[in-house]
Amino acid sequence: MPARTLLTAEILSIGSELTAGETRDTNASELARSLTGRGVEVRRLQGLPDVLAAVADAYRAALDTADLVVSTGGLGPTPDDLTREAIAAVTGERPEVDAGLERWLRGLWARRDMPFPEINLKQAWLIPSATAIPNDNGTAPGWWVDRPDGRVIAALPGPPREMRPMWTGWVLPRLETRGLGRDVEIRTLRLAGIGESQAADILGDDLLRGSNPSVATYARADAVDVRISAVADGAAGGRTAAQIADAAERFVLERLGDHVWGRGDMSWATAIGERLEALGWQLAIAEIGTGGVFAALLGDVPWVRCAETRAGDEADGDGGDLEGRAERARASGGCEVGIAVRVTARGDDTAVSVAIVSPHGSHRERRLAFLGGSLGRTRAALAAAAILLAELRRAADARPDRLPQPSEEIVR
Ligand code: AMP
Ligand code: MG
Repeated sequence: MPARTLLTAEILSIGSELTAGETRDTNASELARSLTGRGVEVRRLQGLPDVLAAVADAYRAALDTADLVVSTGGLGPTPDDLTREAIAAVTGERPEVDAGLERWLRGLWARRDMPFPEINLKQAWLIPSATAIPNDNGTAPGWWVDRPDGRVIAALPGPPREMRPMWTGWVLPRLETRGLGRDVEIRTLRLAGIGESQAADILGDDLLRGSNPSVATYARADAVDVRISAVADGAAGGRTAAQIADAAERFVLERLGDHVWGRGDMSWATAIGERLEALGWQLAIAEIGTGGVFAALLGDVPWVRCAETRAGDEADGDGGDLEGRAERARASGGCEVGIAVRVTARGDDTAVSVAIVSPHGSHRERRLAFLGGSLGRTRAALAAAAILLAELRRAADARPDRLPQPSEEIVR
């Protein structure tokens, strides 16, 4: 096989249930992420119906431009599953029943004492240039196809729980042996308390328009992410991807470090949970007028001992004594930390008040979250999470024994 480093890829998602909008295509993004993280440039993701000509054309076009074509779907036993036929048409080969695959397939039914449905024999097909990719979780083996010019097709079944282990356990290791991707470094800094456009403005056009490092901002539901990606500078003695990313990260942290609360795909629950665990503390939550969004943001975690939500229009009785609420929550939950979060509509926006009571002392803060209704409440919950995390950092910093701090990694 001619040596060909696999630097570019296309991903095909095959199945009329996808193009009809009945099944959400999660395979393509999973594969794209996996490949991008390994320094492969993913040029296109495409969803296709179970139509032989359309699928064959897509493989042809993909093989024209990409070193690697990964497809999922269309490997079922029924006549509408046409991925094998499409690959055979593109390579000009004829599929034949493979004796080993047939034995394995018939065995799957025999061991349950069931007659083998002959329709499934199609799943034992191979073409001469294909190697079967074993499937431990279903009846559809995948196909690994070597093209004469060193390009590769990997065809995997559609169900994610079949596709995933075949990809990570069988296909990826072989692709890596073949030579996969460039030296890349991808880092994501997760920010709170700043809008995407403001973050972009602070980083500046020069950085955001550059191609190596490539730095981009993304407004996500739970954070504004700054994603840094760098490839090694090809010149002899040039900088590694990590060195290029380091320099970009320093630049970003100098300007936006105060807003960074996490990295990678870290969630608020993980960020806060790690802090609490380091302090040996647990949390009690009292929410007023939030519909429970703050507790929902943290999800089902063992360190939230109790969470109560009251409607915002219930008489407070205590004149809005939020510290009192936090203190009572803490006492009734038997926790070290109590947080009370109250939201109220303020014009078209949402005012959020937070009180935190902990062994470190008590803290009170108010913020205004953008928009009203459920969008405003969700943003208010994010603000409350950011306030809590900052307070936990201060508590950890103030400790005489100074436990190792995750934040020191984050804000250098
Ligand atoms: P297959 O028989 O290989 O065509 O795949 C059948 C099943 O896999 C579909 O009914 C879906 O439930 C699932 N599936 C197929 N393609 C995808 C995809 N791209 N993302 C997520 N699930 C998929
Ligand atoms: Mg299908």
